[in-house]
Amino acid sequence: MAARIAPRHSEIARRARAARGNWVLAAVYPAADGGQSAARRIPRAERMPAYHPPGTYEAYDARHDDGTAVWVRYTAGLPKPAPRPPAVTYRVCDRGTSRSYEGVRIVAVTVSPDCPRCGGPRGSAVPYRFPEDGEWYVADKWKNGCGHTDMYAAVLAEGRELARFVADATLALDDEASDENEEFGAAVALLRALEKKQRFLTARRSALLLAVAGHDEAARRVEEERTSTSGRMSARDAAQFLVGLAAARASCTDCDGGRINYQARDSEFVSLRCGRCRRDVVPRA
Ligand SMILES: [Zn+2]
Ligand SMILES: [Zn+2]
Repeated sequence: MAARIAPRHSEIARRARAARGNWVLAAVYPAADGGQSAARRIPRAERMPAYHPPGTYEAYDARHDDGTAVWVRYTAGLPKPAPRPPAVTYRVCDRGTSRSYEGVRIVAVTVSPDCPRCGGPRGSAVPYRFPEDGEWYVADKWKNGCGHTDMYAAVLAEGRELARFVADATLALDDEASDENEEFGAAVALLRALEKKQRFLTARRSALLLAVAGHDEAARRVEEERTSTSGRMSARDAAQFLVGLAAARASCTDCDGGRINYQARDSEFVSLRCGRCRRDVVPRA
């Protein structure tokens, strides 16, 4: 039995190389531990020789209808694909909950970047305009690479549940000392409140909830740190990481707004991302 469900990693690695830069469903593990362990070991090629050399594959685990899915992406060579976002925001149609026609409202909702059925990455938003009741509206459509379709009503429900969870934690926050003057001060206070509300909150979910609360920069940095360390990271670790990053940014004298600019020996100007500040910098042409 075990032999039948054991994933064939050399074949998965070959499929991922063929689809370079795109996420491929590697395997579905019946137990969450198995999936999480594989997702941590694949990027390091740890006891996973099929993924040698370390650093050529990325992996993440996500909930799947049949267990825990592991998704793999081959990223060797340039250009490096964009990192996975901590969350996605779509404009969806809200038609209310009653049976009769209530008209349409466009609502922006922030939800998980993973398909709720299989954990595959959700598609990118494509805006479309449509007329209704003599007005024009713009909503988003998207196509998930896995083939599962997200219905607006389900996405709305998912977004509302996440927003409610964040709002509840924010309510508990008021009497807590949060240092709003520090960068990430509000994000760190929210993480501490969330952690009290939900034990064993992972950094992955923390990043999603930070994004739902509008702390986009904090969310991206936590997700980036979580991915690059590929170890277990909790909400508490995430909060500590943000405190450290805020301090590093406040004291950094190496860079100019997150960029280190210098003139190379061939007199070409070079601009690098400051590794201490880790700001998102758009590559200059
Ligand atoms: Zn799916
Ligand atoms: Zn810097």
